[in-house]
Amino acid sequence: MHTNSLVRNSGIGSNLYVIIVFCLIFLSNDVYADEIPIVISNTSQATIQIGANASNQEHFAATEIQTFIQKVTGTHLKILTNQQSTETPTVIVLGTPTTNPTIRSLQSAGDFKISDELDEEGYQLKSIDLGTEVVIVIVSPTSRGVIYGVYGFIEACITALTGLHPVHPDIHVQLDDTLRIPFLDEISNPFYPVRAVLEIDDPNWLARHRVNMSGGEGVWTGTGIEDGFGTAFKYVDTPEFSTLQDEPRDQRLERITSLQNRFKELKSRGIDAYLFMYLTGEPTEALIKTRPDLLGPEVLYGASRNEVSYRPFCWSKPEFHTLARKLTKEILKTYPSLAGFHLRSWGHETRACNCPDCGDRTPQGQAKLWDVYFTIIKAAREERPNFKFYLSGYDSSWLQDPDGRYARQLPKGTIFSQKWGADGEPVVDPNISIPQMNALGEMGHQYIVLSHDVEEVMPFWMIESDLFVQGVRKLANTPEVNGLSGFTIQGATQGLGYLDRLVSAGLNWNIQLDSQQLLENELMARYGNKEAADLILSALRINSWTLSSYFSDYAYSLTIGGSYGSGSAGLATRFWNLIGPKAIENTLLIPELKIAQTAVNRFTSLLAPQLRAANEMLAAKEIASPVDLEALQDLMDAVYLMRIWELLFQSRQKLVEAIALGYEYNTGSAINAKLSSAGEFSKSIQPLIKQIHEFVPLFGYSHQTNEFELVKTLQNEVEWLNSYDYRTLQQHDESFSPEKTEFLIREVHNYPNPLKRETTFTYILSLEADEVEITIYTASGRRIQILNEISAKEGYNEEEWDAQDAEGNPLANGVYFYKIRAMLEDEVVESIHKLAVIR
Ligand SMILES: [Zn+2]
Repeated sequence: MHTNSLVRNSGIGSNLYVIIVFCLIFLSNDVYADEIPIVISNTSQATIQIGANASNQEHFAATEIQTFIQKVTGTHLKILTNQQSTETPTVIVLGTPTTNPTIRSLQSAGDFKISDELDEEGYQLKSIDLGTEVVIVIVSPTSRGVIYGVYGFIEACITALTGLHPVHPDIHVQLDDTLRIPFLDEISNPFYPVRAVLEIDDPNWLARHRVNMSGGEGVWTGTGIEDGFGTAFKYVDTPEFSTLQDEPRDQRLERITSLQNRFKELKSRGIDAYLFMYLTGEPTEALIKTRPDLLGPEVLYGASRNEVSYRPFCWSKPEFHTLARKLTKEILKTYPSLAGFHLRSWGHETRACNCPDCGDRTPQGQAKLWDVYFTIIKAAREERPNFKFYLSGYDSSWLQDPDGRYARQLPKGTIFSQKWGADGEPVVDPNISIPQMNALGEMGHQYIVLSHDVEEVMPFWMIESDLFVQGVRKLANTPEVNGLSGFTIQGATQGLGYLDRLVSAGLNWNIQLDSQQLLENELMARYGNKEAADLILSALRINSWTLSSYFSDYAYSLTIGGSYGSGSAGLATRFWNLIGPKAIENTLLIPELKIAQTAVNRFTSLLAPQLRAANEMLAAKEIASPVDLEALQDLMDAVYLMRIWELLFQSRQKLVEAIALGYEYNTGSAINAKLSSAGEFSKSIQPLIKQIHEFVPLFGYSHQTNEFELVKTLQNEVEWLNSYDYRTLQQHDESFSPEKTEFLIREVHNYPNPLKRETTFTYILSLEADEVEITIYTASGRRIQILNEISAKEGYNEEEWDAQDAEGNPLANGVYFYKIRAMLEDEVVESIHKLAVIR
């Protein structure tokens, strides 16, 4: 590669020579003296150089540079090997000391030294001025590390173009025909060894997020029917298993080819592919027919193929273990690029055999289940000694190991995981067992936390970054946490929800990352200015805190978790569990005044910030300049989502106020007004649902299905409310009798306000009054009207007014005050409010 750069000049015309001289003068300018040219005026100034024997991962790394430079400059850089000569002033040399001889020769010439601080996956970026050319070295001890180094280099290029730091490779960058970067001298090592993703399947996306484990490969339906070891014959094409297959051979072959390619693709990006399987799930129909000798007695399971029951494998039968061994080995032979198995014992999907030998979910049954795990693990390791395992469902009731005796027998490096919080809900404290994590760490295993799962609050979750950052940093900074190996990132890649994924990916790599700046940069690049970015970020954060607060106790308005105020423990916080007849029926069953009052206060405290979030998002929309249609649609969706939550809280607040009224006063009309108001708020959510451009595909449901189901559920809710007998609430607790009710006037409003021609005053009296009057004043305090002898009954009252003064003249446009005053014997209560007239 040490080609003299002047070679370029031979045989070129004089015009070009002038340009080159001009460029050289230009280059001598201080501005560029310490910068390295990559592309100048649409002309490539750099060559990417890999070793002649570079690995697939290094080839991929080189093409990633090519792809991104093309994307930000429109110019194509060449990829050459160390055996070809380069003709550009800059050469980007990438590889390991073993795979790229140039790196070795630079080292032995004393131009460059590989840092001894580099971990296996760490990388080093170093620019070296050789006089004739500048070399940028991207080096790592492993090919996988070279890929990460390449992203480090790409980010340096983006920073040079945009001035933004830190950035993610996928950030929006405006095309520029020239790219110069400063001299680089950087070393970076990942913070966590396992950086997993379970459900996102774009290999490039995974690579660019510096993910090194893809844990949900294969079929994952969540039922145990098509995604268990019992149907894993579909992953192989072995004559021995042909009679155990349910599907036609061509269909199976198609799956096998596609998986083989996918695993290869993942491997070439430095990502370990783990094949997902429930252990053991429902066997194929063919097997149930032809091999009853492997099966236990029938078990009831509503999600089985016939929706009633199926016959599980008997974990005690040696014949089953023989089959499991053969199938495991066959799978490994079929997929040379497969890195590991993700084996899961969970819920009913993995119904145990309940024969006397297996004994279902007893300690004896658990021992038999572990036998199955070890049969599979042993067979796989015989086939490939470094084959890896990830066990999920460990230490729940599904795969128990109270004294760690089974974990101790597992291959070192086995990955275990724990969901964030009770069910992935967004909270700061993931509530994970640190002693268990540490115990597994001491055995040499790896323990990861599944980040709160966007799917759980879809389609309305936008960002949890703040909570995640706090939680992750708290764990990272807790000295006694020494078994933590990383976090998975799950959920959406589209909409503004994708911001979370940036933070998660970034923190897994660099725990000290300034994640706020990362998000702000991302938003600035998409929405054109800092003001819009700040408003969006602020609105998303407020929303994330409101929802986190709401899910912690459901604002005392739902019993889903067991009792009022118990929060989302044990139940996913999916939006459609919060709406619909069942949800509001449940709310209206609040059994005590005290709980209802707590709920009223909770919703009041949630509403104010949520309203602010909605307003800020709207304000952001006004000043943002979205870079493309997608950015605009994401922002509009965020505007609607902020408003939807606000309306939901409004609606629920009215419900709990109705309940409180039922206890406090014996008046139907006030309760009824609250209930219809709740219904109106639910109704107003529906058009917003229809405005949402793109719902996150919850469990694979399409956008249309999501939209349809949510609107229908809300409609049902409104209908249910309309037919609800408000008297039910008055009968709530007949034993409730206030000892002495305080004389109060509350909930004073006037609708409409601002008014045009008339308005209706509404107010609630805790006791029937002797007299109520409303006095209206101008803004300067002049009295212009008194309404007396007006409604004074206990509970809800309303009074219409034609907005005329005492002389019968319509009020002029402007702001007015009114004082409402109620008298009972010698007690007087009053309050002052504002109204406006706009004619
Ligand atoms: Zn059995």
